[in-house]
Amino acid sequence: MAKVISFSNQKGGVGKTTTCVNLAAYIALSGKKVLVVDMDPQGNASSALGFFERTDKKSVYEVLCNNLSVGSAVKKTEIENLFIITSSNNLAGAELELAQVVIGRERVLEEKIEEIKAFYDYIFIDCPPSLGLLTVNALCACDGVVVPIQCEYFALEGLSQMMNTIKLVKKFLKPEISVEGVVLTLYDSRSKLSKEVGSEIDKFFANKVFSVKIPRNVRLAEAPSYGKPVALYDNKCAGAVAYKALAEEFSEKIK
Ligand code: ATP
Ligand code: MG
Repeated sequence: MAKVISFSNQKGGVGKTTTCVNLAAYIALSGKKVLVVDMDPQGNASSALGFFERTDKKSVYEVLCNNLSVGSAVKKTEIENLFIITSSNNLAGAELELAQVVIGRERVLEEKIEEIKAFYDYIFIDCPPSLGLLTVNALCACDGVVVPIQCEYFALEGLSQMMNTIKLVKKFLKPEISVEGVVLTLYDSRSKLSKEVGSEIDKFFANKVFSVKIPRNVRLAEAPSYGKPVALYDNKCAGAVAYKALAEEFSEKIK
């Protein structure tokens, strides 16, 4: 049975997608079977894995709102053990459509994921930067949450709002859910601020913070425009080395 992990932080641009996609790629390259589900209407995880089409009719939107069978929405990527359910422009409307569902609107994705859990080792859900129904569906569908946090001055701001959402989901919808890990991203080991924010986050999340930190690295930002995870774009750059190490730490801790 797959371990289902949501990559979530309602703050935008903190490295959710970069972490989700590159961790998924390195774990798949280590021989495990991994599925990425792109729950963000921006579709960044889809393009980062080579799917730039925004009007495809076999996307997560059709699975959530049009009864497309989840299995037929799964696409192969360039990496052998790595699969994806892509996002599309329509997904922006799913938030409103799901809101009309009277019973169980928070659990539509969970129900779909249940059908395919047996086929993968990990299912990674890339969340949008918001706490709406798409994110709540992702939280209900997962066993645990990984929170990427950018080491900058306002890093902790808004985090309590997300922790509260996770608490509410845990209380009313999914008692098993917890924060499984925190990834420090865009980390500059020479900057005093990065270190200070890093130790604040260590205090806040106690032993949840992964010891591998992700440095700012331009190759990580370039790779998505070629539709490739960094493993296929530049496997030697500092960002690649960090995500590879994080994948090892992650697979050890989260099984
Ligand atoms: P959103 O909230 O919009 O979904 P996000 O949290 O998923 O954003 P990303 O898309 O992963 O964040 O990253 C935001 C931007 O920063 C992207 O352009 C990405 O390529 C770049 N980026 C992410 N991590 C790094 C890094 N470690 N070094 C350099 N650039 C990075
Ligand atoms: Mg993103």
